[in-house]
Formats: sequence, structure tokens, C-alpha cells
Amino acid sequence: MSDARVIVILPAAGSGSRFGGEIPKQFRTLGGKPILQHVIERFLFDDQVERVIVPVQESLLATIGHAPGDRVQFVAGGDTRQESVTRGLEAAGDVSDVIAVHDAVRPFFSAGVFHAVIEAAREHGAAFPAVPVADTIHVVNDDTIDSTPDRRSLVAAQTPQCFRVEILRDILSRGGDDATDEAGLAAKYGYTVKAVRGDSLNFKITRPEDLVMAERIFAEWGGQ
Ligand code: C5P
Repeated sequence: MSDARVIVILPAAGSGSRFGGEIPKQFRTLGGKPILQHVIERFLFDDQVERVIVPVQESLLATIGHAPGDRVQFVAGGDTRQESVTRGLEAAGDVSDVIAVHDAVRPFFSAGVFHAVIEAAREHGAAFPAVPVADTIHVVNDDTIDSTPDRRSLVAAQTPQCFRVEILRDILSRGGDDATDEAGLAAKYGYTVKAVRGDSLNFKITRPEDLVMAERIFAEWGGQ
């Protein structure tokens, strides 16, 4: 397939406070290479991807220097994830196809799921990879259970999440303090957001133990 028109925004400007340590988790190494580099290379390898835009902390821009190739562009991120994605979108310029937004700390996304999400977004406007939750989820207040949503209707939202560009522009311009992903933001503003079956291997490296697991998976499967 030669229609490389999808633009990927990889917000990587977080400080990784839940992970701890000096180095934000997206710059920690996995198999000897920064996690962010794994993710960028996987997208560059994908023949549907035209360009990858990476918002990073402004102070890092000088260190990173120029991009390794003209399909990768580093830009200054913002104080929140939404701001970082907005900066990435501003750098995207004219976009003829859907935009993908992917957490810089999910190195194990599959091309199959990514392509299915792209297709669903082209058709419905917005789509994301969803994984049914294995645990029972309770709403807890003051250390006691408040309510228990029906697990059968709960999914965990992953990335890459894909959007028609006008939808992404609209939802980011309206914002929402409590939104932790763009799919939720799109739903909040009334757009249809299609859930595409994802897989649990595409987990987000959030805590130190996630990196230990990622190293094992990488060693076992060569990062696939
Ligand atoms: O904090 P969380 O794990 O939800 O972050 C998800 C992604 O958003 C990470 O890749 C992180 O680097 C990015 N982010 C960002 N700008 C911020 C905060 C988070 O690009 N201000």
C-alpha cells in the first residue's frame, strides 16, 4: 500500500512523575534504546505514515537537535498532554487524512490494530483501541466502595487513537480539564468514537515494574 498520508503525533513532553527518577520514562532505555526511539522507528516503518511529530519538553529541543530524517519533527510540548497534542497539531499544517495520537510510552502497539483504528476513524470520524478490563472496577470514596459499574461495559482505552483532523482540532480547541485522552474528549463533545479491539500487549509503561515487564517481552519477542 502506498497511501502514506497519516500523520502521527507522539506527545512525549511529560515528566513521568509516577515513574520516578530523573529521566522521563519515554527516554528510559528498552533493549538498549530509548523507548521513544522504538516508537518513532515503528511508525516510520509503517507505510501508511507520512510524518511523525513529537512534542517534547522545550528545554530538550536544543539537546535533541535536528530530526534524524524529514519524516520526524520535534516541537515544543506544553504543560498538559492536551497542550502538547495541540502544539503537535499546529505543526502538522495541512492534513489530508486522519491524525493518530499515540502515547510515547507504548512501544508494543501492533500494526494490525493501528490500521484497523485508522480505517474506523476514516469511516466514523474517531476511533481508539479498546481492551476489556479483566479486573472488577469499583468507584471508591474515602476508602470504601461507592459503586461498581458493570464490568461488561468497561474497556481500557489505549492508543494509537485516530481522528479526522477537523474533529481533533475542534475538541482540542474546546478542551476539558478532566480528559485524560482525546477519545474521551471527542465523546464528551458528541462525536461518535468507535472502539476497535486492541490487545493487552500494548500497555503503557507507567511504573518501574512496567519497564521490567517490557524488557522481558522485548528479550523474548524482539520487541514484537
Ligand atoms: O501521564 P501520562 O502517562 O498519561 O502521559 C501520556 C503521554 O502524554 C506521555 O507520552 C507523556 O510524555 C505525554 N505528555 C505530554 N505533555 C505533558 C504531559 C504528558 O506530552 N505535559
